[in-house]
This record gives sequence, C-alpha cells and structure tokens, in this order.
Amino acid sequence: MKINTLRICLFTFVLACFCIFNLNAQSYSIMENNEVVKLSDIEKSDVRNIVNIPNISGYYTLKCDLHTHTVFSDGDVWPDVRVKEAWQHGLDAIAITDHIEYRPHKDMLNGDHNESYKIAKKKGDALGVIVIKGAEVTRSKPLGHLNALFIQDANLLDVKEPLDAINEAVRQDAFILWNHPGWPDNKSTLYPVHEQLIKDKKIHGVEVFNYNEYYPVVFDWCKNYSLAFTANSDIHYLVKEMYGANIRPMTLVFASERSEKGVRDALFAGRTAAYFNGYLAAKTEYLYGLLEASLKIKLINPEKRKVEITNISDISYRMTCGDKLYVFPAGKAIQIEIPKEGKVTVTNCFTGMNEHLAFNVSDINL
Ligand code: ZN
Repeated sequence: MKINTLRICLFTFVLACFCIFNLNAQSYSIMENNEVVKLSDIEKSDVRNIVNIPNISGYYTLKCDLHTHTVFSDGDVWPDVRVKEAWQHGLDAIAITDHIEYRPHKDMLNGDHNESYKIAKKKGDALGVIVIKGAEVTRSKPLGHLNALFIQDANLLDVKEPLDAINEAVRQDAFILWNHPGWPDNKSTLYPVHEQLIKDKKIHGVEVFNYNEYYPVVFDWCKNYSLAFTANSDIHYLVKEMYGANIRPMTLVFASERSEKGVRDALFAGRTAAYFNGYLAAKTEYLYGLLEASLKIKLINPEKRKVEITNISDISYRMTCGDKLYVFPAGKAIQIEIPKEGKVTVTNCFTGMNEHLAFNVSDINL
C-alpha cells in the first residue's frame, strides 16, 4: 500500500514538473485555433535513433566516433552540431579532432585550438554525450595524419617538427590514433617512422576504416602490433549528407563504465571493434563476444537440429558452412537446421587481411 502511494506521489510530481517547466523532449505545446494550427510534432530534433549493438560479457559496448571536424578547422559545422547529431545517431562518445595545421576559417573565428572542444563539451554535458578532447596532427606522408585524443592543451601541438608534436601529445598522456593510412595516395604503407613510433608505444590505434574506405592490410597491422581497431567518419559536413539513413561508421569500445575514463581505458587496452557499412573488424574474442550476444538460439526440434535464431542486434551477420550461405538479418529471426559438423565462417567479420571469424559447428551449444 505504502509503495503504491509512493508511486502515485512520484508520478504526480513528474507530471507536475512537465507541466510547470515544459521539459523539452517530446512534450509539445498545443496551439490550435482558426488563425494558427501548430504541427509541433513535426519536429524531430529531440529524437534519438537507438542503435542496437549488445554489451558483451563484462563490458558495455559504447558507440564512438573518434574523428570529426568543425568550422574550427576545415569542417562546415559548429562544434555543438557535431554533438547533437552524434546524440541523434545513437552514439555514446565523439572526439572533436580539428586539424592543428589547417584552419581555413581562422580569420572569421575567435578562439584557439582548444575552442571547438570547449563548445562541444558544453553541449555534450547537456545531452549526455561523452566528448573527447582531440586534435589532428596533419603532416604529409610518410608520417601522415594522427589524432591525439584525451589531450589537455591542443595549442602545445602547434610546433614545427612533426615528431615534436607527437612527443608533446604523448607527454599529455594522449591516445595516438593513426588516421587513414591509405590516404591520399591509395597506398597503405607502414613506414619506418611508424614502426619506430609503434615500438616506442607512441601509436596506440589505427583507422582500419575512414570516411568511405577500408584498408584490409591494416587489419594485420592491428593484429601484429596490438593496435586498437577503429572506424571513424572523419566527417567535415553533416553526417546525414554522407551516410544518409544508414548507420554511420563507428568504433565500438568495450568499456567497464560509460564515461570518458571508461573509453580511454578500453582504447589503451585495445578493447575495440571497427563497425562500418555492415562489416566488423576486431580481435577474435570481441567479434565472438558480439556474435554470441547478438544471436539468441531457441531449439525447435532436437532430432533435426532445427533452431530458431533471433538476431537482436542492428548488425546483419552472414555465414558460410560447406556450400551453404546463412544470413541472419538485423532484428529478425530465422529457422534453420544446423549441420552436424563443419567450419562456420562469418564473412562480414574480419580478424585479419584474409581472415574471418570462424568456429566449428560443434562449438554451438544447443
Ligand atoms: Zn581528419
């Protein structure tokens, strides 16, 4: 009885709050008379798209974009627009990574290299989006472009010598992400400078996907050098202009808590997966974890080994076994007879350049 009374009180209180403060979200003011009819619910800016990618055992699966631009470098949007669209697209975290060396709108703006983060962070705090302070060290190949993430002062990266910029970022305990190794010459080359930086633990992750391209050879670098797999938009204009209604590319970060620290710890530990255009690339254990958490198996007929498999995620999985292709569409269930033996290859999940996630049928627990 007491609990019910408490519930009613709480409900009345929440209702009162909505009435008094007209809290944003989907509360619309109604205006309808012969002079004006407001179609308030036409507005969708406060609607967030939920991307269903399950947590894996022991970790939250956080959806992140670790590479974005604003007007404070050569992007077309104000920093808070980046955060709002990230929220709308169901992301947990974004990094603002304006170029240090290329700022074409500089003369029209007030503010130094730290300004875009400040504006974005304010919006992130208002919306519950984790905003990571970053900057893109933008040099020609062989070094190329690298994002310094979780930095304290981006202005200190504005130095003449490229390696001095990297060393300053390392001094600030940054996570260093090597961006688009295959751009702009359509060659993904691991130059001696990168080998040395990796050896010195001054490169911690790499983009296996950037904008609209992926780099198969880089899957092997991640594996061989223990670098974190990432997939990022590197978006300069509106994300929807680029990816339309599709799920934007993202780095899945397996974090022990939903916070900046959680993202940071997971990145340094290499607990990530790159997700782009229906493909995943990661270490075997994380791909297996995602697959296991996504597909729910219900036994229908033990003799025929007939099962119903429900894919609770927004990632469609494609598998081959022998001469058969099995497709598990996002958010749907299918019924199949599981073969008695054979090797299953998950063709949309990469673990290396010529390697896919694979397991034996006998590993499936019916
Ligand atoms: Zn960039």
